[in-house]
Amino acid sequence: MNSTTLQPIATLLIRRVFKWVLLCVLVFSSVQAWFNYTSIEKNFNSTVRDVADTHLPLLGVAIWDIEPQTIQKQIVLILKNTSIAYVTIKASSGQIFVGGNANVAASGRHVVFDIPSPLENAVPVGTMDLVIDTSILHHELIQSFFLVTVEVLLLAIFILTAVVAILRRDLERPMRQLANYVRNIQADQLSGSSQMDLPEAHAYSEIDLVLEGFQIMQNSIKKHILHQDALVIERTMQLERAMESLKQLSITDGLTGCYNRLLFNERMPGEMQRAKRYDRTLSIVFCDIDYFKSVNDQYGHSTGDKVLIAFAQTLKDEIRTDIDWIVRYGGEEFVVVLPETRLSSAIDVAERMRRSVEHDLEVLIGNGEKLKITASFGVAQKTATDDLDNLVNRADEWLYAAKTGGRNQVRPQKPA
Ligand code: GH3
Ligand code: MG
Ligand code: MG
Repeated sequence: MNSTTLQPIATLLIRRVFKWVLLCVLVFSSVQAWFNYTSIEKNFNSTVRDVADTHLPLLGVAIWDIEPQTIQKQIVLILKNTSIAYVTIKASSGQIFVGGNANVAASGRHVVFDIPSPLENAVPVGTMDLVIDTSILHHELIQSFFLVTVEVLLLAIFILTAVVAILRRDLERPMRQLANYVRNIQADQLSGSSQMDLPEAHAYSEIDLVLEGFQIMQNSIKKHILHQDALVIERTMQLERAMESLKQLSITDGLTGCYNRLLFNERMPGEMQRAKRYDRTLSIVFCDIDYFKSVNDQYGHSTGDKVLIAFAQTLKDEIRTDIDWIVRYGGEEFVVVLPETRLSSAIDVAERMRRSVEHDLEVLIGNGEKLKITASFGVAQKTATDDLDNLVNRADEWLYAAKTGGRNQVRPQKPA
């Protein structure tokens, strides 16, 4: 069978049922024809018996009185009965009288009667041989078989037509709608309608059970997908948060909370380009704690860490939020990036920082004593031809100048 050729279920059923009905019609017609045949034959026999009862006494008298014309007349009367095809009367004197269709005489059925003598208790005066035309019997048999067959066949066709209509309406159409519905279920369109256009007199049947099954499945898939979507959104957000904090961790110095060198290298080219493109000023300040090594040596590494944290916070307090940014460049060395700031303003910022470190920064050490530190600052403004290395080197050189100049100072100095 070609699996892509649709065989309507109603047609399939009807084809099968029709074969059985045909067989039943044949069996039923044959049985019915047999009953008709036996009843026709019974009638036939009683007709022959009637003929005998009517004509035998008269024939007995005619033979006794030797009246050939009367005998012949009787033969004509007997032959009026259509089922008798040929008659032979044999008188005991040897005379023979015949009548009817001689062709049938050989093939027909013979029924022979003795012709009684008109005298009581005398021997028969002859015999009457009636030849019955069986073709009539056969004809009637065929006719009755044919009639019964046609009747039953018409009835079967009528019933089958009704059954086809019912099957189409109550089975085939709902099944096709169900198939369409199932075919249209798609993962991204699960909210589609699942109503079917069933006939008004439709009874709750297996089709409804299947439809309900699919609806339950559709709803559960819908719920499952919604749940999965929510889960995906939640997981994506978690992932984004994790990525964000990872990113933050990767660009932040763990001890001071300032940006690290990685971020400086990543972000600085952009700052340089922006300053160049829009012709804006950009300055940087290199800051380095003075004699920090001796802090570590004298008070221990953890005090050194505390000093680093406090130093970073002091620098942060002096910058503009969202515009300036601070990088821990290495060890106890920090860079403050000041976009849209000219050299003189940057020197002012550095000076404020220096003063704040010198006067306000205090770190508690074990015995209630307060540790004070100073720092040196080198400032540089980006020139039109500067690349990042040039700018950094110049600021570093000014820092070196501040160190060699006695520390706790900002270089270059502002012109008086
Ligand atoms: P100068 O005034 O010339 O800058 O002298 P200095 O001692 O500050 O300079 P030097 O570069 O010789 O010393 C820096 C010291 O900073 C060396 C190192 O042990 C210390 N250091 C670097 N990173 C850290 C840190 O994360 N924590 C602590 N406690 N110390 C650090
Ligand atoms: Mg130092
Ligand atoms: Mg140093």
